[in-house]
Amino acid sequence: RSNAEKFEFQAEVSRLMDIIINSLYSNKDIFLRELISNASDALDKIRFLSLTDKEVLGEGDNTKLDILIKLDKEKKILSIRDRGIGMTKEDLIKNLGTIAKSGTSAFVEKMQTGGDLNLIGQFGVGFYSVYLVADYVEVISKHNDDKQYVWESKADGSFAISEDTWNEPLGRGTEIRLHLRDEAKEYLEEDKLKELVKKYSEFINFPIYLWASKEVDVEVPSDEEESTDEEETSETSPPEEEETEEDASEKKPKTKTVKETTYDWEVLNDMKAIWLRNSKEVSEEEYTKFYHSLAKDFADEKPLAWSHFTAEGDVEFKALLFVPPKAPHDLYESYYNSQKSNLKLYVRRVFISDEFDELLPKYLNFLKGLVDSDTLPLNVSREMLQQHSSLKTIKKKLIRKALDMIRRIADEDPDEFNNKDKTDSEKESEENEKKGQYTKFWNEFGKSIKLGIIEDAHNRNRLAMLLRFESTKSDGKLASLDEYISRMKPGQKDIFYITGTSKEQLEKSPFLERLTKKNYEVIFFTDPVDEYLMQYLMDYEDKKFQNVSKEGLKLGKDSKLKDLKESFKELTNWWKDALSSENVDSVKISNRLDNTPCVVVTSKYGWSANMEKIMQSQTL
Ligand code: ADP
Ligand code: MG
Repeated sequence: RSNAEKFEFQAEVSRLMDIIINSLYSNKDIFLRELISNASDALDKIRFLSLTDKEVLGEGDNTKLDILIKLDKEKKILSIRDRGIGMTKEDLIKNLGTIAKSGTSAFVEKMQTGGDLNLIGQFGVGFYSVYLVADYVEVISKHNDDKQYVWESKADGSFAISEDTWNEPLGRGTEIRLHLRDEAKEYLEEDKLKELVKKYSEFINFPIYLWASKEVDVEVPSDEEESTDEEETSETSPPEEEETEEDASEKKPKTKTVKETTYDWEVLNDMKAIWLRNSKEVSEEEYTKFYHSLAKDFADEKPLAWSHFTAEGDVEFKALLFVPPKAPHDLYESYYNSQKSNLKLYVRRVFISDEFDELLPKYLNFLKGLVDSDTLPLNVSREMLQQHSSLKTIKKKLIRKALDMIRRIADEDPDEFNNKDKTDSEKESEENEKKGQYTKFWNEFGKSIKLGIIEDAHNRNRLAMLLRFESTKSDGKLASLDEYISRMKPGQKDIFYITGTSKEQLEKSPFLERLTKKNYEVIFFTDPVDEYLMQYLMDYEDKKFQNVSKEGLKLGKDSKLKDLKESFKELTNWWKDALSSENVDSVKISNRLDNTPCVVVTSKYGWSANMEKIMQSQTL
């Protein structure tokens, strides 16, 4: 085209497209849900803008917020159009040519070694999945602030953008035209598309229509020329209205029935807002399906738990929270610089934002879900909403519910300590799908619980209940603090723990000798974050935590110790002088060892040796 401007794809995008277009990946279906999800996002955006400025919607058909799918079997074109916000020329260049989001290169790398393309939506590059099924794609788009443009590419490293002077004006929104490859002809079948929408896009909040054919019986006069053509389509003019009644009664013309194909928009989803329904009436399967589409997580796994509730009182809202089956690849990578929570905020069913960091504390960012508030105002800016006082109340309730939900995973897991004497669940445990779920949770998100203990003083105890660890008595499994307490020896006041880089290393530690011999249990903390954790977790159920490698360890009364101290005073004094006060604070007789003659212990309030190591490795 004469007015086309040519652009090169960013190298990263080009690489991704190559991978996609050459992919032997069998589940090509995913492109449709990605396009529908983009259409839905675009509709959310224009609807949000219309809350404060009605004008943006325009008039007539432009006000209809829907998604339209059309097939052209002859030309092998599948098109998906929305009346969303649309893209300006600049948007087209930026959004469909470069990748802004982090983590994408990690995804590209993974894909090269046979990663799961199914996860593409989570990486912010879902659009490019069109090249699984198409070899040529046109994106026609009209944004309120610009003219109508066409973006097109054959995935050959470049794309072109032209001002659109030949297509029908869209009014507003975007139409994606996929020129399907020969192997992808199945996507020209209406049934296939209906099936896919049902499977992946049922919970989209806007109506999805398919220009669908219907066989109808029509009566035609049989004295006319025999028409054997049964594949008439609606493009031929519809049959004439029957003659007037008088004529009909006089002539009684013979009629016959023929099949005719007509076309009409057929709605494919029922747009039920699952969170507005009574939780008793929503099936497990529906929750799972909803989770998949909400989280863009279409792996074959169920969420570990969910919580669907209505909050009443001053601040009314409905919420649906999920614990995903797996942590996203970058959950902790971006922990301190990403603000993003994974909750979507709706106000009376209207999507407002998924970038509110006021809804959940950072450590719960691994949860997915949504909040629909009746109390928040609709017609104010996002910034003003962000400061609304109700958000504090919402946040508080969400945290409570989230922690209850996580607690429930443990409560329902027959492998967990507290449930071991429940004979009923034991009987079912072979079949029980809740078995081992908490360990799974812990392996994926345990670090978040620890970060919570550090950051959220208010819920520290509740979070500490969720803590799991290995210990000298846990026998390779995970134990809880409650379990530890249940095993404490009579007279034992403190909870003993030791920190280090691995269980294997710690098991050899001289600090454990005597404790193990006396049958005390010692917790192993081997994650670097544990050092910080233990600076915040001071006690649990009135028991203090005691690092066994630090000064101040008391193992009950030992009357001999006092005498020993006296008789070895000369030796300890000599040693202290010999080492000088630069190197040690004090030299003491201790009853904490068994075979090892002496150990270096850190002071009660100083860093542990392990912490020293961690700090050193960070400054290097
Ligand atoms: P993501 O949806 O995660 O941002 P995609 O690759 O699916 O990633 O889409 C890239 C971007 O292209 C979107 O963020 C959006 O800005 C733009 N886009 C895609 N489809 C549409 C559409 N139908 N209407 C408006 N913008 C769109
Ligand atoms: Mg997308």
